[in-house]
Amino acid sequence: MSDDVLITSRVSAEFGRECNAAWEALPGGIRELLRAHGVTVRCIRSVWEQMPELTSAPMRGGGRTAENLPAFYRDRVIVVPEFHVSQATGRIERVNPPGAFLCHEIGHALDDALGRHQGNGGATFRQAYQADLDAMTSGQRMDLLYFVEPRAGRRETFAEAFAVAVDRPTPGFGDRVSAAFPRSVALMKGIMKELKEARQ
Ligand SMILES: [Zn+2]
Repeated sequence: MSDDVLITSRVSAEFGRECNAAWEALPGGIRELLRAHGVTVRCIRSVWEQMPELTSAPMRGGGRTAENLPAFYRDRVIVVPEFHVSQATGRIERVNPPGAFLCHEIGHALDDALGRHQGNGGATFRQAYQADLDAMTSGQRMDLLYFVEPRAGRRETFAEAFAVAVDRPTPGFGDRVSAAFPRSVALMKGIMKELKEARQ
């Protein structure tokens, strides 16, 4: 099924297939909600080749710019580049697996489409997230700094809980996020179930 939300441009056939497979595997209600919210997904070869205006745009997290990110969501556009500049090695590396990074960003877009009720301001997700934080060990907190930091931790957890719920977690994080945020992940599964039922 072709889809006007996900656009691939100058990527390898394999990369395009993986992005499409992750998109098509999402519950129809989620894709519909994102479409209605005006979200587009751009799978491109690289930021510096195809979105040069963003190459050095500062992004959240330790001085990174858009070309460092394996994917990002900005102004209702999800970008998944086939190649990025790894901040760890300074080298150009392939984004792998793209479906996982795509799904984390879809979590951010969903948060946005739900009116920022869930990840940022919504009482229910906020409560589940806070209860998880309260129950967490200090080891887990140290291990998952990105997800516990005061400013953006909750919305990062919302996005990653979504990726976990659709079985495409960010590599290396799925099990740890599930273990540290059981209430948040369970709540996300509930949100997804509601969305599915509401749109059938
Ligand atoms: Zn994120």
